[in-house]
Formats: sequence, structure tokens, C-alpha cells
Amino acid sequence: MGIKPKIAMYWASSCGGCEISLANIHDKLLDVEANFNLIFCPCLVDTKLHDIEQMSDKDIFITFFNGAIRNSDNEEMAQLLRKKSRILIAYGACSKDGGIPSLSNLYSTEEHFKNIYMDNLTVDNPFRVTPKIYTNVEEGQLTLPALYETVRSLDQVVDVDYYMPGCPPEPEQLINVLDFILSGGALPPKGSRIGVGKTTVCEECKRIKHDKKIKKFCRTWEIIPDKKTCLLEQGLICMGIATSGGCGGLCPEVNMPCIGCYGAAEGVEDQGAKMISALGSIIDIEPLKGMSEDKITEYIRNILKDIPDCAGTFYKFGMAKAMVNRRVK
Ligand code: SF4
Ligand code: SF4
Ligand code: SF4
Repeated sequence: MGIKPKIAMYWASSCGGCEISLANIHDKLLDVEANFNLIFCPCLVDTKLHDIEQMSDKDIFITFFNGAIRNSDNEEMAQLLRKKSRILIAYGACSKDGGIPSLSNLYSTEEHFKNIYMDNLTVDNPFRVTPKIYTNVEEGQLTLPALYETVRSLDQVVDVDYYMPGCPPEPEQLINVLDFILSGGALPPKGSRIGVGKTTVCEECKRIKHDKKIKKFCRTWEIIPDKKTCLLEQGLICMGIATSGGCGGLCPEVNMPCIGCYGAAEGVEDQGAKMISALGSIIDIEPLKGMSEDKITEYIRNILKDIPDCAGTFYKFGMAKAMVNRRVK
């Protein structure tokens, strides 16, 4: 075999789950090894930064980049890997849409530091020390990456070729993509989501769907849902309506509502807004007939009060890509 194409996998602001998804492809890893040269992957390969810096531009065939852009180091690595890669793939919800880290856009850096380093019951910090970019010690100056106020998705920082949704992407998705690359087929149009279908989770979900008329929303611990009926009809907020398919409806299959990890469905600009508008059309308005305006407002408020955390419910994986993507005051 000639020279194998180089591939890389990098983590930015990440939990490590996306790396686990690579390990989850099991014996398919042998195909990866046989067909590609895994040049850079901090959890598996001990390549150093300067090794990547010395490579020619576009020398890496594909980089799977996971994690959000949360600090200056994440951004510098995104720029470097963009330069060195022919194809850059935003891998996983954090890289694609900001993911769970981007929920922190609702708070300032000062608030985070206060919460984590000062008011945290498990932290003993009598001198109220918080991370600084520069710290002088006897040996010289130590530096830390600068933490940004706003968490961004990969494509809010560099040009991205393809997207692989999921938190993390399902192993089959990665296998589909690798098989496709190995087949030598023509690449899909730039900007495509790859390894997933074009449907919503609802379309993949096998539960029986009827006309929805919701009188009350419930938390998952409040009811034991019927295993065959749509969870949304039973009052559980299931994001399947607004979420891209591709996982096969994994969560509803085990009696848990979809929490939206595959991001907005194709053609949907804002996943949370789509879900909110869907809820607006399925709340049971029958009892509103003849009610005064005040009573209508009270009735609707009463139903909505059971949704405890709207940002965390509707934008759990995509705050960075929401139309309003951070707290504005
Ligand atoms: S997408 Fe999910 S699994 Fe991947 S880094 Fe983000 S939080 Fe972790
Ligand atoms: S809302 Fe949830 S449970 Fe209902 S059909 Fe869609 S994915 Fe299935
Ligand atoms: S059902 Fe929803 S939350 Fe569960 S894996 Fe699929 S997209 Fe993610």
C-alpha cells in the first residue's frame, strides 16, 4: 500500500465522550489503522504541537474536531488544524453547535469564577485565587489560555467542511463516514451533515402518535410513561420534533424523551424556537373558550411553569447557534 492518508482527531472544550465514540467503533478501528495514518489524536497518539506546526498546509486529509471554542488555546488549535487539513469536520454537538459548554453563555466569566472558585462548597480557597493568564513564579512566567466570555461553535471561528451531529455521534455514524471515504465516492456538498439522515427523531421513533393535546407538562421522574405512546403526548418535553434524526430514536426507545443532542433538524434555523412553536400548537386550548384574557394568560402560565429551565431544555446542545446566543444584559 502507498502512503496512507493522514487523519486527526482533536478535542477543544470537550468532555471526552467524542473520543470514546471513536473507541466505540470497536474492530472497525483496525480498518482505520489499515487505511489511514492517525497522525494526531491526543487521547491515543503522542504527537506534539510542533509536529503539526511543521507539517505542510493541507497535509492532513481529514480532521475530526470535537469540543467547543471556549478559550484562546481552542481557537489557536482550530486555526492550525484548519490550515493543515484538507477536510475539517465539526464532530459532535459541542463542535457543531456549541454543545452543553455554550449554556455558560448565560453567565459572565466573573460569575463563573465566583461560582466555581469561591462559592463552591467543595473548594477551600481562603485567598480567593482565580485563574490568571499570566502568573509569575520563581522559575519564570506561567501562562494559561485566556477564557472567552462567549463559547462558540467551530464554524463560528474557522471554515468548516462537514458536520457530524450527536453527543457524541453514534459509532454507526462514524463507521458510515469512514466506509464512505474508503469507498472513494464523491464527497457531499460542503456544509452537509454527514453520517445521518434527513429526517427528525420523530420520524425514526416507533411510538404511536395521535393528535397531541397537552394539559400539563411533567418531569421524567413524575410519571412512568406508557412505553408505546408518544412521550410528548404524555406531557414529557420530547425534543424529537425539532431534532435531526440519525440516532434511530435511541432515547424514546428506552422510554426517555429526546433531549435534542443531534441539533436542529434539516431546514430548522433555531432548534429551541422550533420546539417552542411546536409546543404552542399542541397545548390544549379547549378550556380557553369563553375565558377572559387574564384567565387565558393564567391558564397558559400555569401550564408553562412546569418547564423549569427553558434555556437548558430547549437549547441544551446548541446555545451558541441560537438566534439569541448569550445573555444580553
Ligand atoms: S458533543 Fe457531547 S460527547 Fe462530544 S465533547 Fe461535547 S459533551 Fe462531550
Ligand atoms: S415527540 Fe418524542 S416520543 Fe413523540 S414521536 Fe417524537 S420522538 Fe417519539
Ligand atoms: S433521541 Fe435525541 S437525545 Fe437521544 S440520542 Fe437521539 S437525538 Fe440525541
